[in-house]
Amino acid sequence: MDEDGTMVHITFVQGDITRQQADAIVNAANSSLLGGGGVDGAIHRAGGPEILDACRDLRASHYGKGLPTGRAVATPAGRLAARWVIHTVGPVWSATEDRSDLLASCHRESLRVADELGAKTVAFPAISTGIFRWPLEDAARIAVETVRATPTAVEEVRFVLFDERAYEAFASQMP
Ligand code: ADP
Repeated sequence: MDEDGTMVHITFVQGDITRQQADAIVNAANSSLLGGGGVDGAIHRAGGPEILDACRDLRASHYGKGLPTGRAVATPAGRLAARWVIHTVGPVWSATEDRSDLLASCHRESLRVADELGAKTVAFPAISTGIFRWPLEDAARIAVETVRATPTAVEEVRFVLFDERAYEAFASQMP
């Protein structure tokens, strides 16, 4: 809820997050911040070198050892139709260790950074559900519950799901 007591509006679309118009686009980054596969690779390809340059600057300054899991940091968005990319590092799924709070933290920290930037619309991918193998239904539950429970001035959180299965998993979390 924001200061007026208004809940953030949560929406769901199936599509490519690099094609979204939003104040900020969240990247499911890896801790190196230097690019990777999946949504990370797509964001760097579509956004161009300005994003990687800013990530290299972060590595050379505040994040010499990389960005820890569960944290978030912003860079400009290059050629994307957004002002900022908020990079966050999701946990790798583990069958033996409960890392749910780290996945929740990605969403909380991304919203905190969005508030610092003054971003009102923020697009999120399904963090950790690709290369990091988090089961889709569980990731969807954690993502949506966390956004609903986090106080923020962000007006719209848009989950952008790449395929129909992910879209259904996320959209079915709303009552
Ligand atoms: P992680 O390493 O956090 O698992 P991935 O990028 O491998 O991150 O996958 C996260 C999710 O993003 C997966 O559900 C994947 O299908 C999805 N994805 C991949 N490319 C895109 C894209 N261009 N737009 C939106 N979602 C994407």
